[in-house]
Amino acid sequence: MTDNEFERIYLSPPDIGDAERRYVTEAFDTNWIAPLGPHVDAFEAEFCEFVGARHAAALSSGTAALHLALRLAGVGPGEEVVVSTLTFVASASPIVQLGARPIFIDSERTSWNLDPNRLADFLRRRAADNRLPKALVAVHLYGQCADLDAIVDLCQRYEVTLIEDAAEALGASYRGRSPGVFGESGIFSFNGNKIITTSGGGMFVSDDEALVERVRKLATQARDPAPHYEHSELGYNYRMSNVLAGIGRGQLASLSDKVAATRRNFEVYFDALGGLPGVEFMPEAKWGRHSRWLTCLTIDPERAGVDRETIRQAMVAQNIEARPVWKPMHLQPVFQDAETIGGEVAEDLFRRGLCLPSGSSLTKPQLRRIIKAFREVVAP
Ligand SMILES: *Cc1c(COP(=O)(O)O)cnc(C)c1O
Repeated sequence: MTDNEFERIYLSPPDIGDAERRYVTEAFDTNWIAPLGPHVDAFEAEFCEFVGARHAAALSSGTAALHLALRLAGVGPGEEVVVSTLTFVASASPIVQLGARPIFIDSERTSWNLDPNRLADFLRRRAADNRLPKALVAVHLYGQCADLDAIVDLCQRYEVTLIEDAAEALGASYRGRSPGVFGESGIFSFNGNKIITTSGGGMFVSDDEALVERVRKLATQARDPAPHYEHSELGYNYRMSNVLAGIGRGQLASLSDKVAATRRNFEVYFDALGGLPGVEFMPEAKWGRHSRWLTCLTIDPERAGVDRETIRQAMVAQNIEARPVWKPMHLQPVFQDAETIGGEVAEDLFRRGLCLPSGSSLTKPQLRRIIKAFREVVAP
């Protein structure tokens, strides 16, 4: 294992094997290049098996999957949807694009995911006013599940549709089960930087067969069954292509190895940096297994003697890509008018949080180089 000292180390680059190449070649050899085809069906079936869902629809992106999940939950103009504030913008943008209003909710410190206590307070108040939100988008951040038992319980009690944004958490578990299967529907992403990738793609999963059939229809321009083109409603062009599903099948087959590798990255970082003053790693909540899609930590500038940005820039100077933790949605200019429940925890994690290079293909020399760059500024 070699490492060119000047070669760029990316945050989470694609990690592609021979199986992917074989499946793609097969798609070419059989001329199944069009969207849909045998790889799409097989990828959906294999994905269902992996996450323990009954039905799945392979789509062009995780954002497309969330858009359809929200639409099928009845989200539209005038409705409100609660969503984690500490997340990527795609957890919230389809809410606004459907004409509804997002309500952002703060994180708790155990998992960095949405705080069920705050959610309970909020829903109690809204129930008293008879103004309950339509749905909740619960995000599982950086490979760790939110506290699903508490969240599921609240959603059932107040009849709020639960949609899980598990885009970052494929390969994680909550009390032994995959995220994505606890609510009405779950979505996953296969974007280029996720733990598995199809270059771009997503998956919608649900135990409700009729719902997944609705997704399939809406994702193929809402074509009615007829020999000609007949449309009684409007849909989207959101299906995954057969070529990309071939990549997905190969990637899925090595997902467990990838999670083992990302968890190993975390262990190496933790052993090397965990003892430094003011350095605290994202905890692994007792309810599940963190996939460590990204290894994240916070810096206490008083104790570390240096702040997050200084460390990040020192790494950038050595051609190492590290990123701040997501900037909360309630701080984004585009959402400045949205209601927010709390927000201080997410703001603190954003201000002090850093994501380290975490790819499943990171080599030992690369890890050593990252650790050295980190220690040079934090413990010189
Ligand atoms: C990546 C991501 C998405 C969107 O997935 P795409 O496939 O890129 O559209 C949604 N939510 C979260 C939390 C993500 O990280």
